[in-house]
Amino acid sequence: MRFLIPGLMLTLLAGCAQNPVTGSNDFVMMSESQEIAVGRQNDEQVKKQYRVYGSKALQDYVNSVGQRIARNSHRPNLQYHFTVLDTPDINAFALPGGYIYITRGILAYLNSEAELAAVLGHEIGHVTARHGVRQQSAAQAANIGITIASIFVPEMNSPVAGNLINLGGGALLSGYGREHELEADRLGAQYLARTDYDPQAIITVISVLKNQELEDARLAKQEGREPRRYHGLFATHPDNDTRLHQAVDEAEKNTSAHAHFEGRREFLAATEGLVFNDNSEQGVVRYNAFYHGELGIAVQFPDNWQVHNLPTALVAVSPQGEVQLQMKLDESPSGTPGEYARRLAGRSAQITTLSVNGLPAALFDQPDAAGGVVFHNGQAFILLAKGKTPDILAAHRAEIISTVRSFHAITAAERRLVKPLTLHVITARAGDTFSALAKDSPLGQSAEDYLRLINARYPSGEPQAGQLIKLVR
Ligand SMILES: [Zn+2]
Repeated sequence: MRFLIPGLMLTLLAGCAQNPVTGSNDFVMMSESQEIAVGRQNDEQVKKQYRVYGSKALQDYVNSVGQRIARNSHRPNLQYHFTVLDTPDINAFALPGGYIYITRGILAYLNSEAELAAVLGHEIGHVTARHGVRQQSAAQAANIGITIASIFVPEMNSPVAGNLINLGGGALLSGYGREHELEADRLGAQYLARTDYDPQAIITVISVLKNQELEDARLAKQEGREPRRYHGLFATHPDNDTRLHQAVDEAEKNTSAHAHFEGRREFLAATEGLVFNDNSEQGVVRYNAFYHGELGIAVQFPDNWQVHNLPTALVAVSPQGEVQLQMKLDESPSGTPGEYARRLAGRSAQITTLSVNGLPAALFDQPDAAGGVVFHNGQAFILLAKGKTPDILAAHRAEIISTVRSFHAITAAERRLVKPLTLHVITARAGDTFSALAKDSPLGQSAEDYLRLINARYPSGEPQAGQLIKLVR
C-alpha cells in the first residue's frame, strides 16, 4: 500500500503569512481559510484511498486524546479531525488545516495513552508549524509542483471505469525532512507537557518505531511484502540524538509538579481486538499473490511488480511504473466471458476464449490494452493492463497473460493465510516468556519478534507477573 496521495491543488498567492509557532513571516502563500479548504478536499481523497477503521469506540478514543492535546497547541482554535485508518502501514500524517490520521498499524506497536499522545502531538506540531503548507509553497516556488503521473488515457468503458491511482510524489506520507521532523517533535513535547503527559513519551515512541523499522526489513522479506516504516525516523538511533533529547528536556522543565498520566491500561483496553497486519476483508498480498477469502479467489502477479490493494481496485505496477494491471469485480456480469471481453475491449480487439484452472475465461488483446475476464461464482473478475505506449504494453504481454492464467479458486491452505489476526491483552503470570507465548502463534516463525516489538520488549526482556501484555491471535 505504498501509493501516494494526489498532489494538493493550490492557488498561488503573493506574499507571506505569519507562522503561528514562531510569529515570524514565512514564505507561505496560503491564508488559513485556504489551508483549511485544502485540508478538507484532500481529506476526501485520503478516505477514498485508505479505509477508515471500523471501530467507533477506537475512533472516539483517539479523537478525545487528540482534541485535548490540540487545545494546548499553538493553534487551539483550529478545528481538528483525528481519523484511524484501516491499514497495516506504520504511519501517522497531517494535512494542512488540522486533518490528522493515524494508522491501526502504528497503534499496534504503542503501549500507552502517553505514546498515542506523542504521535498525535508530533502531527499537531506539523499542523501548527504549517509544514505541509510550507513544503507545498517551496515546491511551487521552485516550479516543481507535485506531478500526477497518470499513465492512463481516459478509461475505455465500464465496469473498469473508476478510481485509478495516480503515481506521484508527496511529503505527506514520507515526512518533511530532518529539520521539520525535529520541530514537530519539539512542539509535540511541549503540547504533551501542557496536557500532563510525559514529554519523554516522544523518545519512547521513536525508539519503539525505530526497533520496528530495523526488524521489519527482515520480517517483510520473510513474508514477501513491502517493509513498513514511520516517516519521522532518521538514521540516528533516538538514544544518540542529542538535539531530540534537548528538545524533550526543554519541554520537561515546563511540566507541572503533579504526576504525568501514562494511561497504559486505558490504551490497551481501547486497542483490545485491534486487527493486526492485513485485514482479511480486504484480501491479503503475499509474495505478490493476492488472496481473498470471501470472494474465494487467488491470483499471482508477476515478480518485481508492486501490488497495491486499494479499496476500489487491486493494482499491480510494473518495475518501471510503465504498465498498470488492475483487477476489478463485476458482481452481475451478462453473457459469456467472450462476449464480456468483446464489450470491454471493443470490436477491433482479439478475443480468445479458454478455461483458466477450470473457470470459464477470455483473453482480450488490442494495442492499448490487454488482459482477461474470468467468471467465478457468478461474478466476473476483470484483469486489465494498460501501458505508457503500445510497445511497452507489448513487451509485458506475456506477464499479463500469465497473471490471468494464474487466477484460481482459493485453496484450503491459501484460505488459512487470509484469516485476520487481532490483538488481545492478557495478564502475564510468573514464568511467562515471550518465546513460550509465541508457541503455536498464527504469526509462525516471526511470532516472538512481533510479540517483543508490539510489547516494547525488543530485543530482550520478559513479561513480569501481573503485567498487561498483548498477544496476537
Ligand atoms: Zn513527522
